[in-house]
Amino acid sequence: PDNHAKSRDLYQRAMHSLPGGNTRTTVFMKPFPIYAASGAGCRVRDLDGNEYIDCINNFTSLIHGHSHPVLIEAATRQLALGSAFGMPTESEVDLAELLAARLPSVDQVRFANSGTEAVMMALKAARAYTGRPKIAKCEGAYHGSYDYAEVSLDPTPAAWGGNAPVSVAYAKGTPENVLADVVTIPFNDIEAAVSLIREHGPELACVLVDPMPNRAGLVPADKAYLEALRQVTREVGALLIFDEVITFRLGYHGAQGLWGISPDLTTLGKIIGGGFPVGAIAGGKEFMAVFDPSSGKPALPHGGTFSANPVTMRAGLAAMELLDAAAFARLDTIGQAVRDGIDAAFRNTGVPGGTVGLGSLLKIHFTDRKIRDYRTAYLNEVETKRQTAFNAGLLNHGVFAANYGLLALSTPMTDADVETIVKAAAAALEQVAALG
Ligand code: PMP
Repeated sequence: PDNHAKSRDLYQRAMHSLPGGNTRTTVFMKPFPIYAASGAGCRVRDLDGNEYIDCINNFTSLIHGHSHPVLIEAATRQLALGSAFGMPTESEVDLAELLAARLPSVDQVRFANSGTEAVMMALKAARAYTGRPKIAKCEGAYHGSYDYAEVSLDPTPAAWGGNAPVSVAYAKGTPENVLADVVTIPFNDIEAAVSLIREHGPELACVLVDPMPNRAGLVPADKAYLEALRQVTREVGALLIFDEVITFRLGYHGAQGLWGISPDLTTLGKIIGGGFPVGAIAGGKEFMAVFDPSSGKPALPHGGTFSANPVTMRAGLAAMELLDAAAFARLDTIGQAVRDGIDAAFRNTGVPGGTVGLGSLLKIHFTDRKIRDYRTAYLNEVETKRQTAFNAGLLNHGVFAANYGLLALSTPMTDADVETIVKAAAAALEQVAALG
């Protein structure tokens, strides 16, 4: 049934003016992407008028779904006052104060326009603070597209090296020098990670870690692993950076609050912009001082024409204020309900696999292997086929999820919406079971 004619036609048009018809690799779909026309609450409508429950939420960034009236009011009020200035505004101070009050390790904040930029500036801040060249990151963890941050994302096992991960370029053209300055550590493997960090210690500016890395399986880091990273970074004099671009949606005090571990720097993005482009670098005053221009040229100059844009700041502030303890409790409840419901459907259908995740985030794995890291999360051919069939089934039953099995829930979802999501997943799993 061709209920996507307008999307297909628009994609044909897009092929002329955008490479491969695309301007954002993450939203590419074959044979063509479904184009969004509008969204309201937890629902998104496509160009052809089909409606879906949106479980992507712009890749986790819309914690309140689409066009929330309070966010519309906050953004339009600012728009009427002016959308951007070559002057600072009060809005950046307001949002920085809220973030510092919520995140235990944060005294000060620096705003940017994306998570990519936030991670780039955090890595540069660590280099500026320590005077050291190398960074360490976990194998398979995605941190945006700064050269150093995107090392070791290669999905093909042939590129992984032996037991110890090696630094593999993701983008063609990555300079060898970049690879030489990135130490790739295994996720959730204390002994191997600590030993690599000690080995490179004197040259290491920082260790960058996402407490629940989406692309590396969306399994939470073991508390002992993060504690070991906290300890060994202190020992070698490197900074510990938490990438909370996604995990800040896990709790009022972020993942650092949930795990009870204080990083030196934190990167933020997504939900803190209230639906608008955003990023932030945050941390202790001592480390954030590298940005301070008040006594002359800072160690790390950082501008950005649209950094701390007041429309973003006002919408972000409104979104964060709506995201109170009760909202987090509700997200935890519906997240658990969806995970439990889908896990039950796995048992009923006999399809191998189940869900992982925490709070409002979950990922569906089509394997009975215990998922611990990037390597165990890697799907073989049969598992990939099951995942593809599942995604198609989910879409046919009116639920939009990321094609690699990620679901991000939002506060406007009702109990009935949760039930619809679980039912759609169960129906999609029936289709997977029928594959044999
Ligand atoms: N860090 C993490 C953990 C992310 O998930 C992402 C994006 N999905 C980024 C950084 C980059 O953020 P952005 O897409 O806003 O550049």
